[in-house]
Amino acid sequence: MSLKYCQGPECHTYCTRDRLKGIKGSKTYQTRRRSSLNYGEFCDTRCERAWLIKYATKAIDHFGRLTEVKHLTEQNAWTKDYDWHGGGDDRHHLYYFVNKITNEQRPLTEEQFNDNNYTLNTGE
Ligand SMILES: [Zn+2]
Repeated sequence: MSLKYCQGPECHTYCTRDRLKGIKGSKTYQTRRRSSLNYGEFCDTRCERAWLIKYATKAIDHFGRLTEVKHLTEQNAWTKDYDWHGGGDDRHHLYYFVNKITNEQRPLTEEQFNDNNYTLNTGE
């Protein structure tokens, strides 16, 4: 099993007991490593925030800067949601699309709900 390293640039400077590693006399505070990290590439929100502060501008310049307003229209306002339905042993989710502009609702199957590629949106 390979470990993932927290990408927080200051992770090793947060002096928590779990970061203190090594043999007696030569212990150091170290970047956290985990089989899976709770916040994607980061061990916690502090490390996530530290990365963002240090690299956000470079990342945006690399991937493309937003230079005009974006619009939520009828064509791209479909979002997935669910309600609880029934009671006791019959309690279950009812899945649906709702359009945030028109408030129109359309039923969804659980499979469609869980399919991240399934959408009614036709624009960005
Ligand atoms: Zn970290």
